[in-house]
Amino acid sequence: MNIAGLQRSSTLDFPKKLSAVIFAAGCNYRCFYCHNRTILDHPPLLPEAEVSAFLERRAGLIEGVVFSGGEPTLQKDLAWWLNRAKKLGYATKLDTNGSRPDVLSNLLCAGLLDYVAMDYKAPFEKYAPLCLAPPKGVRESIDLLLASGVAFELRTTVVPQLTIRELTGMAEAVPPLPRWALQLYREQPDDRAYLGELAPYRPEEIRAFARALKGIQQNVEARA
Ligand code: SF4
Repeated sequence: MNIAGLQRSSTLDFPKKLSAVIFAAGCNYRCFYCHNRTILDHPPLLPEAEVSAFLERRAGLIEGVVFSGGEPTLQKDLAWWLNRAKKLGYATKLDTNGSRPDVLSNLLCAGLLDYVAMDYKAPFEKYAPLCLAPPKGVRESIDLLLASGVAFELRTTVVPQLTIRELTGMAEAVPPLPRWALQLYREQPDDRAYLGELAPYRPEEIRAFARALKGIQQNVEARA
């Protein structure tokens, strides 16, 4: 695996578990608001043996390993790493943009995932302008997760280009979800060119959106 980063301890990335986070290099999307853009194009890599030894040393001391990125499903040996983490006794979580349902399906069927956080970035017609990628595979991945029995959440970073009307359409476009997180967007210096006159939503606006969407998706929550 091309590993661009390792966070040795996190209480935020895996629900109710102290976890380590492995950041896979590279992504097939280019979301204008990406917070990990420095690891998308040929970043310096950590030696795999170093990360592997870390997982061995910390087994039993931390509970989970999160495979994040970038987009981890692009890594050919992701299943091997998940399997290794599980054999060491870790719970596993995958962060994914949902673009590789074939990979996701194999991982779910192999029992290698304990939790999945998948992006539901926008109405499908807005993936191209916001993420410079088509929404190919996203709906299929949602259906796979719903059928899997594995705990999961969808998450949407509420960029200023998304309106409450569009969020309502997103809520209506999918079956009832076990968890849907509306995340606060935080502007970065290079983002202004994509925003024009638009201002980021305030935390109280994200919370109001979540309240408004409860009638359609009962398990929506604001992460703001
Ligand atoms: S899918 Fe995630 S990692 Fe990839 S560009 Fe978008 S925000 Fe960044």
